[in-house]
Amino acid sequence: MTWKQCDYTGWGRVYHARGELARPERASALARIASQTPCPAIGQRRSYADGCLNDGGRALLTERLDRFLGFEEETGLLEVESGCKLADIVTHFGRRGWLPAVLPGTGFATVGGAIGMDVHGKNHHHVGSFGQHVESLTLALPDGPREVAPGDPLFAATIGGLGQTGPIIRATLRMQKIRGDVMMVTERRIPDLASYFDHLDASQATYTVGWIDATARGAALGRGILEEGETGPGLVPPAKRGTRVPLDAPHAALSGPVVRSFNAAYFRRVPERGRTVVKPLEDFFFPLDKIHDWNRLYGKRGFHQFQCVVPLAEREILRAMLKDVGTAGLASPLAVIKRMGAGRGGMMSFPTEGYTLAIDFPARAEAPEMIRRLIAMCFEAGGRVYLAKDAFAEASQMDAMYPERAEWAGILHSIDPGEAYATDLVRRLSLRSLP
Ligand SMILES: Cc1cc2nc3c(=O)[nH]c(=O)nc-3n(C[C@H](O)[C@H](O)[C@H](O)COP(=O)(O)OP(=O)(O)OC[C@H]3O[C@@H](n4cnc5c(N)ncnc54)[C@H](O)[C@@H]3O)c2cc1C
Repeated sequence: MTWKQCDYTGWGRVYHARGELARPERASALARIASQTPCPAIGQRRSYADGCLNDGGRALLTERLDRFLGFEEETGLLEVESGCKLADIVTHFGRRGWLPAVLPGTGFATVGGAIGMDVHGKNHHHVGSFGQHVESLTLALPDGPREVAPGDPLFAATIGGLGQTGPIIRATLRMQKIRGDVMMVTERRIPDLASYFDHLDASQATYTVGWIDATARGAALGRGILEEGETGPGLVPPAKRGTRVPLDAPHAALSGPVVRSFNAAYFRRVPERGRTVVKPLEDFFFPLDKIHDWNRLYGKRGFHQFQCVVPLAEREILRAMLKDVGTAGLASPLAVIKRMGAGRGGMMSFPTEGYTLAIDFPARAEAPEMIRRLIAMCFEAGGRVYLAKDAFAEASQMDAMYPERAEWAGILHSIDPGEAYATDLVRRLSLRSLP
């Protein structure tokens, strides 16, 4: 296998790594390398910060392991290689009436990455997280491939396990039957945060997600647009092919005044009485994927995303967070609010019952301090930050945010005492330290 020295980054382009990467073409090659040179596997690097980096070390890219291995129409069980992108599954199986039960906001995420972060989607309140729909998976361990399934502690350590149980070669997913291959989406304006909570609590829709104007202040604080979606039969033009951002945008492109005006116009794009629109599946699930390399819109310095979930009873902390963000004038147009259910698949999974808030920030000098303040508020409220996005949490906050961390680290120690699978994220937050 050829190892190639590469420079690479997470999706936010702030954290960088330099190290040797290999791209095996076949599962057998992945298994061989994994036994000779244990190292972390990486998907499409859609994690924002350092969760998909191994600076100074080796890593295995799964991008060429993207084959469908088998599908049973009677049960909806789909076996795929771990580098398979979720968008490819949607495109291929959507028209046959099946979808992965859980889809994050980007179809570039691979099955391996979706398991490694136990991703959640717009239907989390109904169906839980990605890992809860994994029937089994096969790990490439130093002593050979090993299949694991629910009930095995190694399975619970792998789901949301940040790649720390070794490379996943393939997985079997329980797909979900859908009513048709288009989306019926109802969009309505939400005037403020209190109404947002009411609407999120009352929504009966299968898929729910809220865009939030993180620049709004005063009476408009927390305003946004709630989207509620259902699959159904219908005809829509196929999803458009993506355009590409050709170069890094200048720094002023996302200045405070530009973002405020953009957000005000975006809020008004939906009529006051609301509307229902019909969309291709991909446009609803992966709205940003049409613009390839949209991360370049933040310029060379890149950007951060803060995402937290706080318990239902502590939801007013989101008001304090939005006040702070609105006053600082640092937010980008990308901000999302959602109610989460209790479902989570593994010991280190992010989801827990509560409200989740995600906000992108251009990587300006003031951003780290602002995000650290938000993390501190989340911590005080008994919430947790999402490790697929985190750049600034502290090791000392991890055991409260992820109460099963120490037990998880113990399981990892038994299969990988030398921490060969550690990534930059795991080292930064001392996630594998033993009690
Ligand atoms: C626009 C956008 C929207 C997003 N929306 C959501 C969302 O709605 N919900 C959500 O939960 N997340 C969301 N995310 C985050 C994203 O889904 C996760 O970061 C996901 O892990 C990315 O998948 P990836 O294939 O790029 O994995 P990477 O980022 O490359 O890796 C993620 C982790 O998985 C591990 N891993 C990857 N492949 C394997 C493998 N084969 N074997 C073992 N471990 C592996 C890596 O070691 C790493 O720890 C979003 C990201 C973007 C860019």
